[in-house]
Amino acid sequence: MPLNRRSWAEPFKIKVVEPLRITTRQQREQAIAEAGYNTFLLKSRDVYIDLLTDSGTSAMSDRQWAGMMLGDEAYAGSENYYHLEDAVHRYYGYKHLIPTHQGRGAEHIISRVLIKDGDVVPGNMYFTTTRLHQEMAGARFADVIIDQAHDPASEHPFKGDVDLDKLEKVLQENPGRVPYVSVAGTVNMAGGQPISLANMKAVYALAQRYGVRVILDATRIAENAWFIQQREPGCQNRSVAELVFELCSFSDGCTMSAKKDPLANIGGFLAVNDDEVAQAARNLLVVFEGLQTYGGMAGRDMEAVAIGIGESVQDDHIRARIGQVLYLGDKLRQWGIPIVLPVGGHGIFLDARAFLPHIPQTQYPAQALAAALYLDSGVRSMERGIVSSGRDPATGHERAPKLELVRLTIPRRVYTQAHMDVTAESVYSVFEDRDNLRGLRMTYEPKMLRFFQARFEPC
Ligand SMILES: *Cc1c(COP(=O)(O)O)cnc(C)c1O
Repeated sequence: MPLNRRSWAEPFKIKVVEPLRITTRQQREQAIAEAGYNTFLLKSRDVYIDLLTDSGTSAMSDRQWAGMMLGDEAYAGSENYYHLEDAVHRYYGYKHLIPTHQGRGAEHIISRVLIKDGDVVPGNMYFTTTRLHQEMAGARFADVIIDQAHDPASEHPFKGDVDLDKLEKVLQENPGRVPYVSVAGTVNMAGGQPISLANMKAVYALAQRYGVRVILDATRIAENAWFIQQREPGCQNRSVAELVFELCSFSDGCTMSAKKDPLANIGGFLAVNDDEVAQAARNLLVVFEGLQTYGGMAGRDMEAVAIGIGESVQDDHIRARIGQVLYLGDKLRQWGIPIVLPVGGHGIFLDARAFLPHIPQTQYPAQALAAALYLDSGVRSMERGIVSSGRDPATGHERAPKLELVRLTIPRRVYTQAHMDVTAESVYSVFEDRDNLRGLRMTYEPKMLRFFQARFEPC
């Protein structure tokens, strides 16, 4: 072993354990057949290591659990609301807190408040629920992310950056019709890729010149700040907390899903600086979410979010969180398994096209790969390819995306590096056996968001 080598370990010890159920191959064969070869339809009890999503699947700390006991379940003016407001001021710097049941609740409210029919909302790629709420409020979404974000082979360090020329063009061509620029920290749909601090600052300056607001999707902002600390010149000695605060300062408000970075199992909020926007948002809040001091969350959940926010911006936490993702990515890469690079903040994306070149896209290679991985070891992943893309509403034809991927999403603080080893070894064993894998045929296709409920059988 080289002398300069120093391993890192999870920055916590384990106080409560949740036993995992290990199944036999025969049990898994039955389970995946019953689930129609769709990992969304598996029962959690049949899963060994669950890498379906990192949404609401985090392990809470002892402090968060202790905070749950301090839940003040008053209908109005709950103590926990004020704790959460404090955390939002301290870590993100926004003036007004508007709590919601989860991220999409905040997206719904801000879209309704700011968007008028026929508006255009530019953004760095899109997230499913964010874009849907903008469209439902009457806007058209304009993608202004840099071209490299759409290229899985590009190793650009900030694939979440906004292309300033594209943005300026949208602002010039639509005077008075751009209610805000929608910027996401680590772009989920691009594989968890970060935006740089310099780019965030430039976007804000440009938007201000046109008198347009910037609304940040801060769901994964701590992960984004860590990439800035690692990669952006001049940021190496700055803390993640400082960088998060500065990123937020280049926006007029944010939407947040507390199910991601803030380490809670449910919750979210909208935060804004403008008094009038806050007032309009609170008016809608009481219609759609709940009173302005709970917005759909129990008092105990607001407390867990308030404490989780503080933990989420700790350097050692975020280093280990993303370190675990990179650890899994490095292993797979060393073994020659095709993955999307650079590895992003929340998961590994297997390139199913390169993995299974003999299965045509019409036979759902990523879906087949996710099913094969489950069969091998009980590891649950998710398809992000032609099944997720659905059909073109105009022609009725399947949309064939360039990217045919399987996502292995890592929940925060839930699994150890040993679980990453088991996962990597299972991917490797499926890779060795790849020539024997067959494609799938769809036997049931729902009309909307088909990936959640579609059923398949082997060809
Ligand atoms: C999950 C997510 C959302 C939506 O949040 P929910 O809490 O699931 O409603 C919005 N933006 C990003 C980037 C997300 O990852």
